[in-house]
Amino acid sequence: MNYIVFDLEWNQSPGGKKYSNSRLPFEIIEIGAVKLNEQRQKTDVFQRLVKPQVYNWIHDSIHEVIHVDYKDLEEGDPFPQVAREFLEWCGEDFAFFTWGNQDVMELQRNMKYYGMLSMLPGPVMYYDVQKLFGFQNGEVPQRRSLEYATDVLGIKKEDDFHRALADAVYTARVLEYLDMSVVRDYPSVDVYQNPQKKKEEIFLSYPDHDEYVSREFPNKEKIMRDREITSTKCPHCHLPAKRKLRWFQNNSRVYESLSFCQKHGWVKGKIRIRHTDEDGYYAVKTLKNIDEIKAEELRQKRESLRQKRQIKRQSEKHI
Ligand SMILES: [Zn+2]
Repeated sequence: MNYIVFDLEWNQSPGGKKYSNSRLPFEIIEIGAVKLNEQRQKTDVFQRLVKPQVYNWIHDSIHEVIHVDYKDLEEGDPFPQVAREFLEWCGEDFAFFTWGNQDVMELQRNMKYYGMLSMLPGPVMYYDVQKLFGFQNGEVPQRRSLEYATDVLGIKKEDDFHRALADAVYTARVLEYLDMSVVRDYPSVDVYQNPQKKKEEIFLSYPDHDEYVSREFPNKEKIMRDREITSTKCPHCHLPAKRKLRWFQNNSRVYESLSFCQKHGWVKGKIRIRHTDEDGYYAVKTLKNIDEIKAEELRQKRESLRQKRQIKRQSEKHI
């Protein structure tokens, strides 16, 4: 299997959000990648500039970080050609590695824009080297910059950051330092191409939590009435854990709950409601074993949310 460590640079509307194309808010302008074998040795590199089709000038804030001139981009190839060459270069059997969780999604959004998403069927599994570096460094969920990671690991800085190939090379160097048994235990799933039907729903079991991605629903209310979504199984034994705190709304898109497994103790549930580009909704649920202290924190959080709502309701009554 090839390990494909890739990085994208993208541009956005130079005239600000008002002139942004909602189907392509971030237009990919460069793809850089390193191919590694399973021993994590570099076997090839890939670098292409993309000739922009949507935004005709580089946004100032992008220009400040990436040091690419628009005239360089005009020498590039159209995105569909670059994406096709990139996927061919990846080979038949590969796994994606990226710094952070945005690149896999933006690659798909750009492919969708050009009607070529069927070349990369979802959900796309990948490994988030930034997250894995955090694990190894014992500082999850904090996300560090790539430059920070290279400093911590004493990696020599030969090229400027924020060019696609250089960042892919640095990410590959960070990957060299990671414990592969941890890497394999924590694949990430990108659900830009979210499950549509029941049989496409995703169930993932990690060493410390379970994750579930539901099918699509026409509205948010239906989601919280679905039995599979609201079920709370212990991530350790996968038996139903008894609900001690009903699902409560943390903010408009997040619900939390507390349950108890006789054998493995407290289970925290979290449901995040996600909105699709096509105005549909789906849920991502995580279930995690927690200790008594965390359980108490959750109880207090619900209590203070309840009080805040009460105060709000009373003050509205008096207006
Ligand atoms: Zn259990």
